[in-house]
Amino acid sequence: MKQRIIEKVRLAGASAWGFIPTADIPFSEEVRKICEGNMCHGYGKSWACPPGVGSFEQCKEECLSYENALVFSGVYQLEDSFDFEGMGRGHREFKELCDRLGESLERPFLLLSNEGCIRCKSCTYPDAPCRFPDKLYPSLEGYGILVTELAKKAGLNYNGGTNTVSYFGMLCF
Ligand code: SF4
Repeated sequence: MKQRIIEKVRLAGASAWGFIPTADIPFSEEVRKICEGNMCHGYGKSWACPPGVGSFEQCKEECLSYENALVFSGVYQLEDSFDFEGMGRGHREFKELCDRLGESLERPFLLLSNEGCIRCKSCTYPDAPCRFPDKLYPSLEGYGILVTELAKKAGLNYNGGTNTVSYFGMLCF
């Protein structure tokens, strides 16, 4: 099973990956409090972020209903550390990576992605249900997960090197 998943994440274009038991996922209510601060401007903007994803306890419970987690990353080249356009491009490419991975998998699974959802020009939140619930890959941070610690536990580098940006996702299965 794990070998098959490695093949799929590799084909989807991930740069690195590692497995952990879901029991080792570093949950932190502090991360949710940071979301509420809305520094990323994603809070309350889509079904992929709090409060639309449900309470901290509900998110945790959903992850823990699976036994295993595959943590993966995409590393993208930047011109320099102020290349915000490159960071945006990397973020979109990472979302495409998650789409390819999600499409290659059979349910049940839970796929969490870096930051909020950018699929639609205008999100239906909170007036109507998500237009693409089968392709809704909520925010890792929004689920109250400490991503730096998650990467460390899975044996991944949080920082991909000079002039790069790294994005992280997690597949619970
Ligand atoms: S897929 Fe569209 S409707 Fe659903 S959360 Fe993302 S932006 Fe909103």
